[in-house]
Amino acid sequence: MTDKYTAFVNGGFGKSLAKKLGLPQPAKLRRFKAGQALVSGPVLVVGSGSDADAVATYLLDGAGSSESIDVRRQAVEPSGSKWAAIVVVLTQVTAPGDLSEPILALGSQLRSVASSGRVIFVTRPAAAGLSPAVAAARNGAIGAMRSLAKELRAGATANAISITDDSAATSPSALSALRFFLSSRSAFVDGQIVAVSSEAGQVPESWAAPLAGKVAVVTGAAQGIGAAIAETLARDGATVVAVDVPAAGESLSKVANRIKGTALQLDITVPDAGAQIIEHAVARHGGIDIVVHNAGITRDKLLANMDNAKWDSVIAVNIESQLRINEALLASEHFTNAPRIVSLTSTSGIAGNRGQTNYGASKAGVIAMVASTSPLLAERGGTANAVAPGFIETKMTAKIPFATREVARRLNSLQQGGQPVDVAETIAFLASPASGGISGVTVRVCGQNMVGA
Ligand code: NAD
Repeated sequence: MTDKYTAFVNGGFGKSLAKKLGLPQPAKLRRFKAGQALVSGPVLVVGSGSDADAVATYLLDGAGSSESIDVRRQAVEPSGSKWAAIVVVLTQVTAPGDLSEPILALGSQLRSVASSGRVIFVTRPAAAGLSPAVAAARNGAIGAMRSLAKELRAGATANAISITDDSAATSPSALSALRFFLSSRSAFVDGQIVAVSSEAGQVPESWAAPLAGKVAVVTGAAQGIGAAIAETLARDGATVVAVDVPAAGESLSKVANRIKGTALQLDITVPDAGAQIIEHAVARHGGIDIVVHNAGITRDKLLANMDNAKWDSVIAVNIESQLRINEALLASEHFTNAPRIVSLTSTSGIAGNRGQTNYGASKAGVIAMVASTSPLLAERGGTANAVAPGFIETKMTAKIPFATREVARRLNSLQQGGQPVDVAETIAFLASPASGGISGVTVRVCGQNMVGA
């Protein structure tokens, strides 16, 4: 689906007209293409201490690939180029006063951040039991990051990685998150915090194919976000089982054929859906490592007009099927080798949305479900996480009446809707072996949507 306005204001006449009239000027976001370098310019690492040094050294060594990265430690404008990224390491702050030097150093460089540039805060969580001053400093860093994300322009984003105290700043998942945020794979993730809660996870042999040898199941894969997820996981090396209802069989086969996977026609609400999925994956591909619960429906009505069919069908597809399939996965001897579950929720499940009591209930349910499933999977080195898209350009959102759609897609810091691939890239990041220390969390892919939570 296209956003004609964004295309218009990125052209010569449209650009000057939008500027003159003070209209929103969404930038064309840089997105990942095969072979693209992790960053396309110098990277500044701000902050002092051993964690900042470790992060700078990792980047200087090429961040796990042969490409070299121009890393600087001095907050001095790079001559002739702009910062591709600024990484601010604040893991060792002990009082709010410690924030001023690094954050003001960052501020002094913001005019030199490239289009679609990145600001990444590396922090530690303000967990219970810390001294009040340490907790205030750590949470202060998050507050600054969220406000900064709203100030950045030209497709630049700000996000944070919050690493638990007993994990190194260069643990596999910290690096996985750092690479994700540095890269253009995180184009539509803005103002978010990814929590790294353990040192679990394995750095892949090749960051170009982190899912090599894995078998992934994607529900609702015949179109929209599900098709993009199937394609992205296949691009990253996975063999994909594409699942959708029999009525979508033709487009499902096309997706499966395109990515050299297999198609499974299945209504995920049938009681033995989990058994059917496991059986297909094991019989056709020898195992099952990743399950992405993407299939979902909306049946919007104000609650005063809601009927049983609309309420029950949304709950059945969006949450009950996921719970039932997860039970089968947890009981299976085949889902034991560092497995991954990633579920689709929605910003409507976080903030609510008029006309969506059924959808909001199902999607808020998903957020709690992954948090409670996470410890059950930890025993086998697995993780369960959710991704919450905001406004994504799909057939579903193309049906929204024009004026409502135009407002909805501009109400975020990037002033545009995301693409299905933006959701898919975030899922691929969470599904990767390196992300084993990220579990039980929900990552929003919403351009820092201004929803009130
Ligand atoms: P879509 O309607 O384009 O695709 C959903 C797919 O799920 C369809 O192919 C459909 O046939 C399949 N499906 C529905 N019921 C099924 C069932 N019982 N069994 C098997 N497959 C079934 O939707 P989309 O926009 O691509 O959304 C994908 C997911 O992302 C959903 O969970 C949705 O709630 C979520 N989401 C979308 C947006 C957005 O802006 N599009 C925003 C937030 C969340």
